[in-house]
Amino acid sequence: MIVVMKAAATQDQVDHVCALIREMGLKDHPIKGSDLTVVAAIGDERKVDGEVLGRAPGVSRAMHVQKPYQLASREGRDATSQVVVGAGQPGVTPCTFGGTDVPVIAGPCSVEGEEAILIAARAAKAAGAHALRGGAFKPRTNPYAFQGHGEDGLKMLAAARDETGLPVFTEVLTPADVELVSKYADCLQIGTRNSQNFKLLEAAGRQPKPVLMKRGMSMTLDEYLQACEYILAEGNDRVILCERGIRTFEDHTRNTLSLSVVPELHERTHLPVVIDPSHGTGKAHLVPAMAKAAIAAGCDGLAVEMHVDPEHAFTDGAQSVTPAVLTTMMADLARVAAAVDRTCAAG
Ligand code: PEP
Ligand code: MN
Repeated sequence: MIVVMKAAATQDQVDHVCALIREMGLKDHPIKGSDLTVVAAIGDERKVDGEVLGRAPGVSRAMHVQKPYQLASREGRDATSQVVVGAGQPGVTPCTFGGTDVPVIAGPCSVEGEEAILIAARAAKAAGAHALRGGAFKPRTNPYAFQGHGEDGLKMLAAARDETGLPVFTEVLTPADVELVSKYADCLQIGTRNSQNFKLLEAAGRQPKPVLMKRGMSMTLDEYLQACEYILAEGNDRVILCERGIRTFEDHTRNTLSLSVVPELHERTHLPVVIDPSHGTGKAHLVPAMAKAAIAAGCDGLAVEMHVDPEHAFTDGAQSVTPAVLTTMMADLARVAAAVDRTCAAG
């Protein structure tokens, strides 16, 4: 941390800042310039309260040098980390996020029933998707709305995986369900509404499956990466980021899909970045264009809601593409991927 003193700061004020830094367990290193003095605080910055130093008499500003998310940070790493989903699961074709391939996760918003998820899984596979999604535990705005089939839904997903060989992504809502969801899923999804549920993040960090971590709908990237740090700090280094749109004044879409986060996150973090154009727009007819744009922007994967009969979907029908649209989209995505030296071959 660097503390910049005001030009008029007195020696007593500089000494006080140095004493505060030592109290925080770091080494103080004052540097006197011709106009002003800066004090470097050397050591583990996580111990430093920048606000206390920023408020001290005679201080102009206090700035962090290290990121508050050291495990998620890109610093010191050349490449994006590769996260494999579905490894070690008999009969499953694993997919890798963060390499040359751009895998596509597709499936309905909710696991609606045994037959429905099997039909969806077959359609996703036939369209060329690489993984299956479906919610068994649904975070609903309204308490009377369909809440998901719970453990039965997880079993239905597992059956669909067994038949198709697609690894499955599904959301976990509470720390109490983490062990259960981890038993069935190949990748645990943390939803936008739970992205700062720190006890849930810690629990996801203590189980063995990878985690698809959605960005909170009102989260800054700094907050997002600090939230990911909760998972990483527990020892689970297989975290996949997922931008799903944020809340803005814009109302022509359900959320505003911020695609500039893709190159920005790649600068800040080594974690792979998936784009969800379905929640990002809320409108099925916008999904193919945003999916293509996401690949052009350098994303490491896509999460797309697909339903064989969107009009009768239990949840999120308006943003669900049909298998026919997904099939056409996959062919387009392959061409866009090739143009940016990536591959998105139908699985
Ligand atoms: C979902 O994936 O169906 C979902 C609820 O997503 P989000 O948390 O992004 O709203
Ligand atoms: Mn949904």
